[in-house]
Amino acid sequence: MSQRDNMSEKKIATPSVTRNLMQAHTIRAKKSLGQNFIIEPQVIDNIVTAAGCDKQDLVLEIGPGLGSLTQALSNAAGQVIALEIDQSLIPALEQSLAACANVRLLHADAMTADLPRILAEAYQASPNLRPGFMAVANLPYYITTPLLLRFLQQPDLPWRRLVFMVQKELAERMQAEPGSKDYGALSLAVQYRAKARLAFSVPPSVFLPRPKVASAVIVLERLAAPCVQPADENLFFAVIRAGFNQRRKTLPNSLSSVLQLPKEQVNAALAAAGVAPERRAETLTMAEFARLADEIKNISG
Ligand code: SAM
Repeated sequence: MSQRDNMSEKKIATPSVTRNLMQAHTIRAKKSLGQNFIIEPQVIDNIVTAAGCDKQDLVLEIGPGLGSLTQALSNAAGQVIALEIDQSLIPALEQSLAACANVRLLHADAMTADLPRILAEAYQASPNLRPGFMAVANLPYYITTPLLLRFLQQPDLPWRRLVFMVQKELAERMQAEPGSKDYGALSLAVQYRAKARLAFSVPPSVFLPRPKVASAVIVLERLAAPCVQPADENLFFAVIRAGFNQRRKTLPNSLSSVLQLPKEQVNAALAAAGVAPERRAETLTMAEFARLADEIKNISG
C-alpha cells in the first residue's frame, strides 16, 4: 500500500497522524494564520453532529489545515469546498484528502474570495444539492469576527447554517441576551439574522499547538427574515455601534457624539422610541434599537 493510500484511510485528527503529516511536509503551525489543529477525533465527530449535514448538503469549510475536519465532512456531506490560505499546507492536504472525491480544495483567502461565484459554480455542477449551504470551520481566531460579519452582512450569500469553532468568550457574546455582561454589538449583529446556540465547549488540550483559552462551537441557524425590520439597516447598525462605542457615557451622550447629532434630537428620538435616557446600551433589546434608529431617522431627516 502506498503512503498516499495509507494516509487516506486514517483519521487525521490524532496527535500521531497530525505530527507525521507535519513532519513529512516540514510544516510548522503558523500563529499568524491562527493554525491550531484539532487532534481529538471525538471533537471532529461532535462538530459534524452539530452541523447535521447529509449527502444533499453543500458545505463550505474555511481553513482545512491538515484536513481533519474536511475528511469527516467529506464522509457526511454531498460536497465540500475547502478554502485554505496557506499554500504550504496544500501538498499535505492533497495527500490527506486523496480519497475524498467530493472535496474541492481551493488555495484562497476566505476574506476576499468571491464566495457567491464559488458557491454558484458548485450548485451549477451539482443541481441536486440542497439550496442553502452550510459553512463549517474551526476558524482561525485572528479573523473570527470579520469573517463572521462577512456572512452576516452579505444577505445574498445563501447560507442556512454556520457551525464555527471560536474562542469560548466570543461564542458567549454571540448568544448573550440584553442585560448580561456579554451582550453587545456582536450579539445584536448575530441575532438579527440568526438563532445562536452554543453547542459544546472544548479545552485547549484538543489542539496542536494549544491555544491559551477555551473554545466552543457555536451554531447559527439563519432566520427566514431578520428579526426586526428597521427602515434603514445601515443606520440601525450605526446606532448599535454608537450605543456600545463609549460604554461609560450615557446613551444620549454617546449617540450624539458618535452620530454627530444635536443632543436635543437624540433626546427627542429616545422619548419617541420609549427609551429612557438613563438606560445603558447593554439593556436595550433588538426591538428597542430598531425603534430608536427609526425615530432618529424621522427626527434627523
Ligand atoms: N481545520 C483545521 C483543524 O481543525 O485542524 C485547521 C483549523 S486552524 C484553527 C485555521 C486554518 O485556517 C488554518 O489552516 C489556516 O491556515 C487557515 N486560514 C487562516 N486564515 C485564513 C483565511 N483568511 N482564509 C482561508 N483559510 C485561512
